[in-house]
Amino acid sequence: MPNYTVKVPPKVVPPASRAKTQPIPAPIERQRFRRRLLSWYRRHGRDLPWRRTRNPYHILVSEIMLQQTQVERVLPKYEEWLSKYPSFESLAATTPRQATRSWYPLGYNIRPKRLHAIAREVVQQYDGQLPSDEDSLRAFKGLGEYTVGAVQSFAFDKRTPIVDTNILRLLFRVFVGHGDPKRHAIKRHVWVLSRALLPRRHVFDFNQALMDFGSLVCVSRKPRCPICPMRPDCRAFSSGKLRQTAMP
Ligand code: SF4
Repeated sequence: MPNYTVKVPPKVVPPASRAKTQPIPAPIERQRFRRRLLSWYRRHGRDLPWRRTRNPYHILVSEIMLQQTQVERVLPKYEEWLSKYPSFESLAATTPRQATRSWYPLGYNIRPKRLHAIAREVVQQYDGQLPSDEDSLRAFKGLGEYTVGAVQSFAFDKRTPIVDTNILRLLFRVFVGHGDPKRHAIKRHVWVLSRALLPRRHVFDFNQALMDFGSLVCVSRKPRCPICPMRPDCRAFSSGKLRQTAMP
């Protein structure tokens, strides 16, 4: 009997499971999105005090204050806090109780406690200088993926993506347009999109622009589609399913 060897064909990924992978937009579409966003931001972006600094401590304070809190409520407290605690050293020198008192009336009092703990750690372990690498930043208690990305791109000018609620809503509507944006797989895809969209330069402006656009134009209920420059490429708009994409 001849000895036949049976060749096993390479495993083929069935089309059904491939179809579940969300596509990344083509380079030309990403370029259009960047151009439209930055041009909108130059005309309509908000002039906020934390956009006029690259000081890592100031950026970190603003990012922690802005968690779950409206910009208008943060503005007066941000200035007041920085005049009271202008550096990691001055914050580390106070007590957690005093820091929490100074935080009033922002609420979510775990935030001043965490900020105070970070200040002490930065002073003790890093000689008062906030580290810029992802692993060290992620090691601080209370700094999640978004805040680490924000600190890296706003304070250290790194090409790092960010996705907050506003950005999730905007990128989901423009580039996905259907499905449940609360699904983990979609959220991960939006992070991938956010990275793929990053420009080579002007990362600071680009990330700030994403947040402003999501909070001023592509708002949760009644997005301002008639005046929106993204409309020609927006999946949610062209599918007519905008109501289904109302998100926080
Ligand atoms: S067209 Fe409407 S839904 Fe689409 S990005 Fe603009 S505001 Fe948002």
